[in-house]
Amino acid sequence: MDEARTRGRFAPSPTGHLHLGNARTALLAWLHARASGGMFVMRVEDLDFGRVRDEYRVSQPHDLRWIGLDWDEGPDVGGPHTPYLQSRRTELYEDAINRLRAKGLVYSCSCSRREIAAAASAPHGVDDEGPPYPGSCRLRPLDPAAEDFALRFRVPSRPVVVDDLIQGKHIFDPEKLSGDFVIRRRDGVASYQLAVVVDDLMMEITHVVRGADLLPSAARQMLLYQALDREPPRWLHVPLMLDEAGERMAKREGSLTLGAIRERGVPPERLVGWLAWTCGLLEKPREVMPVDLVAGFDPARIPPAGTPVTLPDWLTGRLGP
Ligand code: GLU
Repeated sequence: MDEARTRGRFAPSPTGHLHLGNARTALLAWLHARASGGMFVMRVEDLDFGRVRDEYRVSQPHDLRWIGLDWDEGPDVGGPHTPYLQSRRTELYEDAINRLRAKGLVYSCSCSRREIAAAASAPHGVDDEGPPYPGSCRLRPLDPAAEDFALRFRVPSRPVVVDDLIQGKHIFDPEKLSGDFVIRRRDGVASYQLAVVVDDLMMEITHVVRGADLLPSAARQMLLYQALDREPPRWLHVPLMLDEAGERMAKREGSLTLGAIRERGVPPERLVGWLAWTCGLLEKPREVMPVDLVAGFDPARIPPAGTPVTLPDWLTGRLGP
């Protein structure tokens, strides 16, 4: 394999139907890989067992194909890094945990969410994973073999830099961001942060294009790459799609899923052209398929912050006046 070849990926969690915002992120990730002549990988991040549903596992690839995306590797097409479902990759995550453990960077934690919230003093961290962990179990002797404890990664007390190709350079203080974060949940399942690092490494991903809400996660992931003595991929955190009110599109369930839009008879070309226009890739919305955008794709045109977009009536299914 050509070592320098770009490898991108889209890694949806089958916890809901894909909506407009997911479609735009997937489109950008695909365009980035294809415009660099690279490979595109589909990985299914199905570790949130309480929320994963088979119907989403089926609808997500179907919806992505409908808008003209394809992938060279993935659960349905195979590839050299199979399995592409995180739920089947447990041993690989355990290997990484053991490597971190051998370096003294892992400890067991018996704290409940409530204890952590009570111990954290306001103001809270910047992240959506709750307040930073105050480190209560760092020095507490817990049996490392006990099974119902979470495992935490010991973060360093130095800043971590994420140099993002869209968002620029961001410096995070790991202790304020999250503190020692969970790498294996109480139920024995790898956390998102650990799984994504192991998978992106093993799947030889060179560029991660994903929503800007995950920028703080990149800081934690950077710490794991450093601890594993590996180079991180390049990150491109693309703006989230905002509706007229400036709300994240993801919050508007139902009517704006790709499935609902398709059922209203919207042609995929119209949707793709509109999505490309909302993130600076086209001067005006027009009917195109992703393949038509490859030649002119320039990630420098993607703005770092999302701007609210007015949803046209053909998209929402609202009747005109
Ligand atoms: N599985 C995550 C999601 O659906 C994406 C994680 C990533 O791209 O790193 O939001």
